[in-house]
Amino acid sequence: MSGFLNERLQKTQQYVPGEQPGDGEYIKLNTNESPFPPAPGVCRLFNAGLAERLRLYPDPTARRLTDSLARECGVNAENVFICNGSDEALSFAFMALFEDGVAFPDVSYGFYEVYAELYGMPYVKVPLREDLSIDVGDYTDIDKNIVIANPNAPTGIELPLCDIERLLKEHEDRVVLIDEAYIDFGGSSCAELIKKYKNLLVVQTYSKSRCMAGARLGFAIADSALTDDLMRIKFSTNPYNINTVTLAAGEAALGDRAYFEKCVSSIKETRAYTAGELKKLGFVMTESKANFLFARHPDIGGETLYKELKKRRVLVRWLSGERTREYTRITIGTREQMDALINAVKDILKENANA
Ligand SMILES: *Cc1c(COP(=O)(O)O)cnc(C)c1O
Repeated sequence: MSGFLNERLQKTQQYVPGEQPGDGEYIKLNTNESPFPPAPGVCRLFNAGLAERLRLYPDPTARRLTDSLARECGVNAENVFICNGSDEALSFAFMALFEDGVAFPDVSYGFYEVYAELYGMPYVKVPLREDLSIDVGDYTDIDKNIVIANPNAPTGIELPLCDIERLLKEHEDRVVLIDEAYIDFGGSSCAELIKKYKNLLVVQTYSKSRCMAGARLGFAIADSALTDDLMRIKFSTNPYNINTVTLAAGEAALGDRAYFEKCVSSIKETRAYTAGELKKLGFVMTESKANFLFARHPDIGGETLYKELKKRRVLVRWLSGERTREYTRITIGTREQMDALINAVKDILKENANA
């Protein structure tokens, strides 16, 4: 710390991203990336004249990609805001829209609390039910903006659309932000509801289901008054927030619906397979609609399992919070990767039983 850092920022906690070791060192099941490469059309771009286009600034309005995404989502271009990873849309929303306070579940994406602290607004963490699901009735008397990941992270549990609609109705004067980072793996998107509710802000990303975590591309869908607000922040901080390469890759990925569907259905199939195998080994888990499982074993704590797996070159995520520490979060990779995980787990359980 320099001694120049603003006093308010000296105490804030930073988000701790999952480990990103060098390529090939681990079977990497810790940060919910796709095990598959981006669509073939994206990969081809890098052999074409893309590098040459780096000479110029990118289009600050991201016009082409905005139009394509609007078509894809069945909304108008004015309802789409493109951002540098969905984290940026979250950051802008906290910065610009939530000054009177925000509520989110006690177990959810860690960044919500980091942003609330960074931008210095009051916030409440609303406890999940005992089974780790969200009871929207718990929000009825909270007069604050609301942020919910659907499916939630790290539980993977989906919140039904009727519950989201209830939140929107009961908090008409507040923003309800629904973070749909994992929606493509089996949930129902609420994006259509923006036509009915001016207080709904939906955030999605290319990082998970579109196999492009490294491109840093996300987008928000909302009533145009809300996307205008986000645009105002973008043009006041970094108008060229999406680089030329990422814009082109985003377009190319959208152009290949079949590849996207193939990747998503493979993840869903492998998720069911992995869940079944882990259950046979005695694991208990939530009903995940995301590209990860959130599982615990009665005989072995989350941290021990994480460390033992790491020794065996398999990386999963362990979250040290009081309500998450018994669990590990396991990204769904390829079938081969999951078999390697399952074999490592069997080995660990056997060793544990003999100890
Ligand atoms: C991964 C994730 C994000 C961030 O996605 P980026 O688009 O890569 O910034 C946002 N919300 C949740 C719940 C996530 O798990």
